[in-house]
Amino acid sequence: MAATPKIAIIGSGLGGLSASIHLALAGAKVTVYEQNPNPGGKAGEFQENGFRFDTGPSLLTMPFVLKEIFESAGKNINDYLTLNKLSNLCKYFYPDGSILNAYSDINEFANEIDRTSGDTVGQVRRYFRYCRRIYETAAGLFLFRDFRDPANFFSLPALRTLFLIHRIDPFRTMHGANTSFFSDPRIVQLFDRYATYNGSNPYEAPATLNIIQHVEYALGGYTVTGGIYEVPKSLTKLAKGSGVTFSFNTKIDRIIYRNKSVTAIKTGDRTESYHAIISNVDAGFTYKHLLQNESGKDARRYFKQDPSSSALVFYWGVKGTFNRLEMHNIFFSKNYKTEFDSIFNKHSCPGDPTVYVYISSRINTSDAPPGYENWFVMINTPPDTGQNWDAEIQRMRKIILEKLSSILRTNIGSKIVYERVLSPVSIQQHTGSLGGSLYGISSNSRYSAFLRQPISSRDYRGLYFCGGSTHPGGGIPLVLLSGKLAAAKIMNDYKIGK
Ligand SMILES: Cc1cc2nc3c(=O)[nH]c(=O)nc-3n(C[C@H](O)[C@H](O)[C@H](O)COP(=O)(O)OP(=O)(O)OC[C@H]3O[C@@H](n4cnc5c(N)ncnc54)[C@H](O)[C@@H]3O)c2cc1C
Repeated sequence: MAATPKIAIIGSGLGGLSASIHLALAGAKVTVYEQNPNPGGKAGEFQENGFRFDTGPSLLTMPFVLKEIFESAGKNINDYLTLNKLSNLCKYFYPDGSILNAYSDINEFANEIDRTSGDTVGQVRRYFRYCRRIYETAAGLFLFRDFRDPANFFSLPALRTLFLIHRIDPFRTMHGANTSFFSDPRIVQLFDRYATYNGSNPYEAPATLNIIQHVEYALGGYTVTGGIYEVPKSLTKLAKGSGVTFSFNTKIDRIIYRNKSVTAIKTGDRTESYHAIISNVDAGFTYKHLLQNESGKDARRYFKQDPSSSALVFYWGVKGTFNRLEMHNIFFSKNYKTEFDSIFNKHSCPGDPTVYVYISSRINTSDAPPGYENWFVMINTPPDTGQNWDAEIQRMRKIILEKLSSILRTNIGSKIVYERVLSPVSIQQHTGSLGGSLYGISSNSRYSAFLRQPISSRDYRGLYFCGGSTHPGGGIPLVLLSGKLAAAKIMNDYKIGK
């Protein structure tokens, strides 16, 4: 292609930011259109009444993926971000009153499990060897490559992975595999919880998802000085420095196509032509609203799948300092199976939810006034299918407060001095994720990796996808990888930087 290719990216989520940097560095002319005044999408922040909150992600994993983006621009991540490895990844509170600390050091964690449960150090070590094996077998093909691209799918590494398919344990459920390693139901529940990292149900999702435990414990879980929002902020700075143009407060209404080729984007009464377009918006939303066409092969396949879960988040400014809590805390439900049945089969909020409490002011002291803490309190919910969310918010608020007050032996409701709520409906409004599903389709099927939206559209020439609903999946490192894969595909298709 002779002229410098013009690329539009719809959305400045982490996937869109990653794609923009890689493409600009290769020499493309890149414009990012973002409906909100700020970048980051789900990884946003807000400040009010002396409190600062990260709106979405609270834990960073696979930091090397982020580091590599800075390196590709010839920069050092340490000049932009301070990452802190957590020694205690999460404190778990069980309904029977027992408590378990998930230390990131696997030996320390194994000793903690041995001390507090019916399972042993040896079982934990064996389990983490198994999780590592899944990562070592699957990551190269399923995370770091666009395996749906025939050039990759029919390559030697792909054939090797397919030959070793039994090592990634796709034929058992996560729960089934975890019960084969552990006898104490509390330990099984702890490891089943990792299905929620991509909005799935451990009683249905393939055991391959046990790869996540290797990522979190062996590769490490991190927090960021200043809050997770520093990640999109620093990537936006890097993108601008690499030549990317940003158009904030610009909602794209339509992607224009002719003869199955995308040609332009439309915002208000303005139409801009582009050689290629990346949608960083949820794939379902892209089909329904931006293309207004759900009849293509990718779209039809996409809408046949179950959506991933959504969330209710209460952002609470709380008076007092709660020394029993860590930065990340989980208060488990009594019956995990019933909880997931509610979310995925009954499409209603669970009567006894598992509650996650993240307190960033534990490390970033300026996130709350002295003597106060900023609590991010989240439960998993179904996506919006017309439930009465005002009523659900009130119902869940009461249940959560009763649970936390009983375990922490203090009336938490009376300590709340500030409150804001994020629901599946507001997640869709703020980020465009259909029904507020956090990660596109769920991974409840063993074929989900093959059913996810591919990086490059098979229905429209010039249309590409990145972000949580796209290959390789949701979560900070994976959406950063999806942006890189989308950029690489465009560079190859348009001979950019060659
Ligand atoms: C409550 C919550 C907790 C989470 N916890 C974690 C965690 O601890 N660790 C982790 O790794 N991940 C976590 N995640 C997931 C992680 O945040 C996401 O996977 C990731 O940030 C999504 O990035 P994305 O690239 O898909 O873009 P998104 O964040 O989905 O952004 C899409 C962007 O597109 C914009 N947009 C949409 N429609 C339009 C339009 N028509 N025109 C212009 N712009 C548009 C939106 O405004 C948005 O900025 C969490 C998510 C949530 C919501």
